[in-house]
Amino acid sequence: MTFEGFIIHHSSCTSINGVGYDFWISADGFITSAPLLTDPSHIHICLEGNFNRSYDLLGAAEKQQLFIASKLIMELSRQYDISPLFLYPHTNTCPGKEFPWNELVIYPSHGYH
Ligand SMILES: [Zn+2]
Repeated sequence: MTFEGFIIHHSSCTSINGVGYDFWISADGFITSAPLLTDPSHIHICLEGNFNRSYDLLGAAEKQQLFIASKLIMELSRQYDISPLFLYPHTNTCPGKEFPWNELVIYPSHGYH
């Protein structure tokens, strides 16, 4: 199975009652993973809350969720051999134009020097 990347949602996404997410990061920072990955091409990660805001406007708990998500992405990218830079929004409004994408990317420590 080859994944093309990660799709990021937040829980104000209206399709939340449709197909489940592969990984759910709750407001208190816990990761719940689905028993099976649902999409053969992308791994879906959902952050609980509304993340259509710039990083400065997020609370401490939300910043922690982003940090947990970034570590999860690093872990999954290693496990499934996907670039951790291949992050995509679900739609124009999910997780939104203001979503702080830069906070989700941890560059591999041996790069960018
Ligand atoms: Zn979505």
